[in-house]
Amino acid sequence: MELKDHYKVVIIGSGPAGLTAAIYAGRAELNPLVIEGIQPGGQLTITTEVENFPGFPEGIMGPELMDRMHKQAEKFGTHFYFGTVNKVDFSQRPFRLEADGKTFTADTVIIASGASARLLGLESEKKLMGRGVSACATCDGFFFKDKHVVVVGGGDSAMEEATFLTKFASRVTVIHRRDKLRASKIMQERAFQNPKIDFLWNKVVIDILGTPETGVQGVKLKDTVTGEESEFACDGVFLAIGHVPNTDIFKGQLELDEKGYIITEKGTTKTSVQGVFAAGDVQDAIYRQAITAAGSGCQAALDAQHYLEEKAFQEAQKAKANS
Ligand code: NAP
Repeated sequence: MELKDHYKVVIIGSGPAGLTAAIYAGRAELNPLVIEGIQPGGQLTITTEVENFPGFPEGIMGPELMDRMHKQAEKFGTHFYFGTVNKVDFSQRPFRLEADGKTFTADTVIIASGASARLLGLESEKKLMGRGVSACATCDGFFFKDKHVVVVGGGDSAMEEATFLTKFASRVTVIHRRDKLRASKIMQERAFQNPKIDFLWNKVVIDILGTPETGVQGVKLKDTVTGEESEFACDGVFLAIGHVPNTDIFKGQLELDEKGYIITEKGTTKTSVQGVFAAGDVQDAIYRQAITAAGSGCQAALDAQHYLEEKAFQEAQKAKANS
């Protein structure tokens, strides 16, 4: 398909939110453009089996699920551009977007650029990602049946992931850098009462031990009070130290909350700029599931469609009044 310079709907991001928005916008004959981003298909392409996406009772591999969504969006006339949006200008209309040197204009923009799991920044973490290191217990917990895993973090996500992992793992050790959890009381209590969960306080992970062949064999820890270093054996490391929304390029253009998530009007996907909508993890710090992202992608496409219809109606009225 030949790319155009101008689109009625440009979607930034190609995870479940972006592709669902594309399917809906495509079926509304809006011929959207999806700018795919640095990781086409989004976070699901780095997971293995997805067992909780409705409609796949046998489960489906993350990359295959995204491939299917891609094909479905393509079938309804979506154009795809393999590139990353580096700059947007929402102060002029049509909106302007620059992606790897190419400029597009758009009547509406749906932002579905997602969020990235915050990582520790260790070389060993990169090397062992998917080989015992994971940032998603829901995705990968199943592979740790009867194993001992650690969860790094002290927030609600860490408690939730630790509790969830006890369904599979024989033992879950939460490693937190302070001696007090950030998590809500109820989530803390649930974790404290779970006999499979124990805690290591005042510790940071400074290295992950193992090779891609052996998988994770342990972690190297540093005590944040005494500075003492030690090794702790385990079979898996789950990171739950927060997520970072991919919103750097929208700073100063849209209203963001204190953590950088795009603020949307309650019950809609409308952002602080009319005609710009946000869906998926980029505006959701809480649920962060493929199915909730897909749901909000659908909402964003419908919101964009209604916005375009309203605008066309107003322009027709204006033209009628002037004639
Ligand atoms: P969070 O609340 O920001 O907690 C992140 C945790 O990771 C904190 O305990 C933090 O330690 C620790 N941390 C951050 N960077 C670290 C590093 N480099 N090394 C070691 N530890 C590090 O993030 P979250 O738990 O993902 O929660 C995000 C939001 O989603 C929250 O508003 C939460 O309430 C919500 N949420 C809700 C639910 C639920 O209600 N079911 C479930 C999950 C998430 P410090 O405490 O020392 O800063």
